[in-house]
Amino acid sequence: MFKIIDGKAHSAAIRAEIKQRVATFKADRGIDVGLAVVLVGNNPASQIYVRNKIKACEETGIKSFAYYLPEEATQNQVEELIEELVENKAIHGILVQLPLPAHLDAQKILKLIPKAKDVDGFCEENMGSLCMKEDCLVACTPNGVMKMLEREGVETKGKNAVVIGRSNIVGKPMAMLLLNADATVTICHSRTQNLKEICSNADILVAAIGKAKFVTADMVKQGAVVIDVGMDRDENGKLCGDVDFENVKDKCSYITPVPGGVGPMTITMLMFNTITAAERS
Ligand code: NAP
Repeated sequence: MFKIIDGKAHSAAIRAEIKQRVATFKADRGIDVGLAVVLVGNNPASQIYVRNKIKACEETGIKSFAYYLPEEATQNQVEELIEELVENKAIHGILVQLPLPAHLDAQKILKLIPKAKDVDGFCEENMGSLCMKEDCLVACTPNGVMKMLEREGVETKGKNAVVIGRSNIVGKPMAMLLLNADATVTICHSRTQNLKEICSNADILVAAIGKAKFVTADMVKQGAVVIDVGMDRDENGKLCGDVDFENVKDKCSYITPVPGGVGPMTITMLMFNTITAAERS
């Protein structure tokens, strides 16, 4: 019998803890925890993400500072804004909503955010610290996956973990977190050969591919823990994950649904990183 991991419930419990930490921070230091959210342009999905991030700030007592720049903002304008935010003591975390318009050099902009305020956990220093198993701000989506595994009591030590996907924001940090938690980790990608065979040996299988229902039952070991990071659309335009949930679930011990699994954890971990950054400031 499989158990569905309820990301919404985990998320609500973690947000309650964060709210408490935020209140304690304010009581101790006499200032708010501040998160700056920078949105450049009119990407509709980005607008929704930013709105949800601001809502999560309200829910946890974090003060949000939203900066909306027009689509045609120049590299200089964005860089100047980031430089101001880096200096601003009321701001403990800086988030630049991606993707940025194509004419901007996103890497150059992100590099201006110092490690201590990099609440997305994307900068080289935070990624490096993660590899060195040092304390750092960890990318929100994979960190949310780890939190769910911990809270469900899923053992990672000595287990075979397979991560499908090697992006800098999900696959790589996910693999590193599992390695740091003593799993034996294999990272797969579009050039991997024998993908089915590798996946079917996984005790823990994380799918971060971006292809609807890509992981089928024949790729899953009996009793595996299956984590679906994907946010895709099925043939009817309905939100679904990278895992063929209906056909895979009966083989699993645990499985995350889409929606309601990994998704809700991502913004919660952004709040977690923001209070953590504030406490360390
Ligand atoms: P990405 O940058 O496009 O990376 C996708 C990865 O999947 C790449 O490493 C790619 O391999 C690999 N891949 C593609 N086709 C494959 C195949 N046929 N076999 C094996 N591997 C294959 O995507 P991402 O940003 O990591 O996101 C992955 C998914 O997670 C997307 O659906 C995205 O929407 C979702 N996501 C969800 C959240 C959330 O909060 N729930 C957050 C972030 C992302 P190559 O490197 O060889 O190209």
